[in-house]
Amino acid sequence: MNFLSEPIISQATVLLTDSRFVSQPEHSIFFAIKGERHDGHAFIKDLYEKGVREFVVEKKALNDALKTQLENLSDAKFFVVENAIRALQHLAANHRQAFDIPVVGVTGSNGKTIVKEWLSVLLAKDYNLVKSPRSYNSQIGVPLSVWEINEHHNFGIFEAGISKSGEMEFLEPVIRPTIGVFTNLGSAHDEGFRSRKQKATEKLRLFQRSKTLIYCKDYEDIDDEIRILLKAVNPTIELIGWSRKAGSKIFVNATKQNTYCTLQILWNSQIYDFKIPFADDASIENATHCIFLMLHQGINTAEIQSRLDMLKPIAMRLELKQGINDCYLIDDTYNNDYAGLSVALDFMTQQHTKRDKVLIISDVLQSGLEESDLYESIAELIKGKQIDKVIGIGEVISRNQKSFYTSAAGDRKAPVAPIVFYQSTEEFLEKYPINQLQSSLILVKGARKFEFEKIINRLTLKVHGTVFEVNLDALTNNLNFYRNKIGSDTKIMVMVKAFAYGSGSAEVASLLEYHRVDYLGVAYTDEGVVLRQNGIKLPIMVLNPQPESFAKLIEYNLEPEIYSFKVFEQFLTFIESFEHHTFKIHLKLDTGMHRLGFEAQDIEQLVALLKQNPKIKIASIFSHLVGADESEHNAFSKTQIERFEQMSKQIIDALDGQKPLRHICNSAGIIRFPEAKFDMVRLGIGLYGVEVTGTEQKELQTVGTLKTVISQIKYLKAGETVGYSRKGVLEKDSKIATIAIGYADGFDRGFSKGVGKVLVNGVACPVVGNVCMDMTMVDVSEADCQEGDEVIIFGKDLSIKDLAASIGTISYEILTGVSERVKRVFYKE
Ligand SMILES: *Cc1c(COP(=O)(O)O)cnc(C)c1O
Repeated sequence: MNFLSEPIISQATVLLTDSRFVSQPEHSIFFAIKGERHDGHAFIKDLYEKGVREFVVEKKALNDALKTQLENLSDAKFFVVENAIRALQHLAANHRQAFDIPVVGVTGSNGKTIVKEWLSVLLAKDYNLVKSPRSYNSQIGVPLSVWEINEHHNFGIFEAGISKSGEMEFLEPVIRPTIGVFTNLGSAHDEGFRSRKQKATEKLRLFQRSKTLIYCKDYEDIDDEIRILLKAVNPTIELIGWSRKAGSKIFVNATKQNTYCTLQILWNSQIYDFKIPFADDASIENATHCIFLMLHQGINTAEIQSRLDMLKPIAMRLELKQGINDCYLIDDTYNNDYAGLSVALDFMTQQHTKRDKVLIISDVLQSGLEESDLYESIAELIKGKQIDKVIGIGEVISRNQKSFYTSAAGDRKAPVAPIVFYQSTEEFLEKYPINQLQSSLILVKGARKFEFEKIINRLTLKVHGTVFEVNLDALTNNLNFYRNKIGSDTKIMVMVKAFAYGSGSAEVASLLEYHRVDYLGVAYTDEGVVLRQNGIKLPIMVLNPQPESFAKLIEYNLEPEIYSFKVFEQFLTFIESFEHHTFKIHLKLDTGMHRLGFEAQDIEQLVALLKQNPKIKIASIFSHLVGADESEHNAFSKTQIERFEQMSKQIIDALDGQKPLRHICNSAGIIRFPEAKFDMVRLGIGLYGVEVTGTEQKELQTVGTLKTVISQIKYLKAGETVGYSRKGVLEKDSKIATIAIGYADGFDRGFSKGVGKVLVNGVACPVVGNVCMDMTMVDVSEADCQEGDEVIIFGKDLSIKDLAASIGTISYEILTGVSERVKRVFYKE
C-alpha cells in the first residue's frame, strides 16, 4: 500500500505547496494544504498527471472518495499527516538541524524585509549567504526559505512574520536563529493579539535559544518583555539594546542632514561614527540594527562605512508596468539569487497572458553552489516555467552557456528556451535589437551591480507624471474578505466592467482567474473581448449585449444577459443558423430597480419561450438591489429579495431539470443581507477597497493610489490670481505648485477653488482656482516640497469616499473616472 505515515522520508528537492507553480515535477513533493478556500487535495490528480509522485495529505481530508482516487495512482507515495503545514515545518526544521551555521532571525512589525536584504548586501563579502526570498516570512514561506540552505552556505538570514498569537512557536525551530534582530513594534496585526505586550512576548519566542539579540530599547513593550520573560527562559542571551536616550549604555545619536544622516554610537565604552545615505526615520532605524550586527561580527569601522555607502532603498514590491511596443515589464532589479528568481518567475506565471514570456537575467549571486551546478539548476527552473526567450547578461552566466542546453534526440543540443548572451548591460543595450521585443511580458531580474534600471528605463513607456497604482495584494485581501463572508458554498462573480472600476481590466481579471473566482461580469461585449484577447478563460457574463455584437459574443464565448423579449428574440434569431450548439444565457429579473429585466407578469410567456428553445441553457437567473448600501432601504431590499425568490422559483419549477445559479447580492448586499447570497454573489466596488455600507471598511485595504508630480513651484504675492477666469485670488503671499493632473485625467472640475485637497509630503493642500484640462494649481505654502515631488490625489491617507463626498458624488464615479490615458502600475508587496 502506498499510504505512509510520518516521518516524511523523501528524495525530493522541491517542496511544492501551490499546485500552480510546479516546474520540476519529478523532483517535487506536494503538500496538500486545506485552507479556508483552497483545498490542495483537489489538485493531486492533476499534479500526478504532470509527473509528481510524492504527496503529503491530511488525515481529515482523506475520505473514501479521495482514498479510492489515490489508490488508483499506484506508483505514487502518500504521506498521511494530521496537518500538512506542520509536516512541512517539521521537515524544514530537520533540514535546519543539519547545518551548524550562524543564522540571523529577523522579526518585528516593520522593516523586516529591508533589514534582511540590507544585511545580505552588507555581509556578502564575508559569507556564502542564504536568505528568504522577498518577504517569505509566513508559516509556509519560512520553511520553504530554510529548505534552501545547502552545504555550501555558511550564513543564513531569515525573516519571520506572524499575525496572531501561537504562530511563532512553529517558526522558531525552523529558523533556530543564533542571532536575533527585533526591528520594532507597531500596530500591524494588533487584532491578532490581546495587547502590544503580548505581541512582543509572542515575537520574542523566536529568540528563546539565540545567543545574541539586537533591538531598540526605546520600544518599551519589547524591552519590558525581554527583561521579564526572555531573560527567564534564555538567561545567557547577550542583549544589544540600543537607545536614542541620552545617558543610555548603548547610545545612538542620529543627526539628520538633507539626504544623509550621521550616527554617533556609544558601545562597549567606545565611540563610533558612521554616515548613512538616508535621512528618514525608518531607514535610520533599520540601518542602525545592521550596524550593530556588523560591529558584533567584528567588522572594522572603515569597512562598515564603505559597505554602508552601498546601501540603496529597496523596491519592496514586484511591479508590473507598461513598456514600449505593447510589452509589459516586471521590474525586479535589486538582487538576483536563485530563490528570488523562482519567486519572480512565479509572479510572471500568475499573469495569465497570451504574451510571449521573456526573461532578462544577470549573473546570479550569493548561491554557494558550484557555478555549473547553479546554472544547471537555473536552466532547469526556467525550463519548467515555459519561458519563450531568455537573455543572459554577465560574464559568469555567459561562460556557463552550456548549462542552458540539454541533449535532444541524437547529438544535437537544444536550449531550454531560445537564448542569447551578453557580457555586460552596456553591450546588451548597444547591440540587442530592442524592437524585437513586441507584445511580450518581460521579467527584468538582475543583481544590483548590473544596473538593470538602465534596461528598465529603455523599455518603459514614458509616462507623463500621473500614474494610477494598483496594489494586487490589497485586491487579494479584499477578495478573501468577501469570500470568507459568503463561505465556500457560494460562488463568486466579480464585476470587472468599466476597466475594472478603473483599475485595469486585463490585469485584475488575470489575478482573479489566478485566485479561481467563478465568473466575471462586464457591461459590454467589447470589454469581454478584451479579456479573452488577454487570455482570460473564466466564464464571462455581459450585462448589456447589443444585437450588433452577437457575432463577437459567440466567437469569444461570452454569455449574454437576456433582459427583455426583444433581445431574447433577437438572440434566438441570431443563433438559428448554429445547428448543434447550446448557448448559455443569464436571465435578468426586475424586482424593483426598473432598469433592465423581466417583470412578474412576463414569467409565464418567458417560460413558454424557453421551453420551445432547447438550444438555450440558463446559466443563471439574477436581479439587482437598488439600495443595499443604505439601511433606510432595508425593507425595500427585503421585498426585492422576496420577489426574486418567487419569480426565480417559478421559472426553475417550470423548467424541470435545469439548475441555474441564482444571485442578487452586490458588494453591499453581501454585507447587509448574508441570508440572500443564494448560489452566487456579484462583487464589485468592495474588491476595489470601498465598503459602501461603511460597516466593514476597516477590513478592506486600499487598492488604488492616484498620484502625480509637481511640475513647477511659484512664489506669488497677495492679490495675484491663479488660473483661468482669475478664479484663484490669493489673500496672502503664497507658494503655489502646478501639478500634472487635470479634468481630462479624471480630476473632476468640481474640485476647483479649494473644494479639493491633495497630499504633498503628508500635508493636505487645497486647489487654487479652476482645475484645468491637464493641470491644476494647489497651494503648498504649508508643505515642505520641491518641483518633482510626488502628489497624492487619492490613496490610503486620502480616501476615495471623502473625495466623492466633497463634490457630491459616489466612490464609483471617482474610480471609473480616472482616464485611460493615466498609466496603470500594478504591484505586489
Ligand atoms: C456593477 C454591478 C454589480 C456590482 O455592484 P457593486 O455595488 O459595485 O458591488 C453587481 N451587479 C450588477 C448587475 C452590476 O451592474
